[in-house]
Amino acid sequence: MEILLANPRGFCAGVERAIAIVERALEKFGAPIYVRHEVVHNRFVVDKLKAKGAVFVRELDEVPAGATVIFSAHGVSKAVRAEAGARCLRVFDATCPLVTKVHLEVERHRKHGREVIMIGHRGHPEVEGTMGQAEGGMHLVENVADAAALEVGADETAPRAYVTQTTLSVDDAASIVAALKERFPAIVGPKKDDICYATQNRQDAVRRLAERCDVIIVVGSSNSSNSNRLREVAEQRGARAYLVDRAAEIDPGWFAGAQTLGVTAGASAPAALVVEVVRALAALTGAAPPDTAPHDEGVTFPLPAALA
Ligand code: SF4
Repeated sequence: MEILLANPRGFCAGVERAIAIVERALEKFGAPIYVRHEVVHNRFVVDKLKAKGAVFVRELDEVPAGATVIFSAHGVSKAVRAEAGARCLRVFDATCPLVTKVHLEVERHRKHGREVIMIGHRGHPEVEGTMGQAEGGMHLVENVADAAALEVGADETAPRAYVTQTTLSVDDAASIVAALKERFPAIVGPKKDDICYATQNRQDAVRRLAERCDVIIVVGSSNSSNSNRLREVAEQRGARAYLVDRAAEIDPGWFAGAQTLGVTAGASAPAALVVEVVRALAALTGAAPPDTAPHDEGVTFPLPAALA
């Protein structure tokens, strides 16, 4: 049995920045620091920050007046930003700069009078934040069928644009963009999509890995969009793929008949959990553990000046 690791895998620059913002705010202002939604979608990360004094809330009305609140890496709507201002909360914004880029695209399209079609998963915090960048003229499609059925009023030739969630499957997004272009030939959008470098690189890596492996373990939480996409991409390439938060969730029965196991991790899964999973796999199978040194993608995002 052999264990192979995907490269790159695990933390992206946006997640590193978001966690650092919470940690620096805790150091600078002391607990409690309120965080709207999970700062990143990983149970281990959230529990660690909770232990240091972060308090995770669903909505701002759970945050006491004058307290410090951090917006998650997924971004927030303009209404949430306005509410924080009206309540005089001290805000640190951990929205990933690559999500902010999509917010600015929405703003620009609306300024030019274009209806904006967002490709994304309904209910995901990033989608709620991006849809909330405009008061109207926004539509959400989740798949090709939605694109075909979208009700846009009588004028099919009205100016339109599309944006995408940053953590979609590259292949799924391409087919939805193609369906939109077929229906609205004049639609404008980013060069290809808004899928971020980290999502793209991790999907490319797991695609290559799945071609060499019988089984792929994806380290990540079940509510992590990009981790779920990694599992799907591996399955589409013919591997049996499983998503686990921690090593304790691994079922040895998954490896029946397997010769090669692959491990990758979503953009919100810490390197320590990859090491834990690799060690557990090595112990279960007798295979030599691979080198788990992290891969440097050469991308970093600066902290807000007040926390730097
Ligand atoms: S997955 Fe992409 S968009 Fe999301 S935080 Fe990481 S770099 Fe930013």
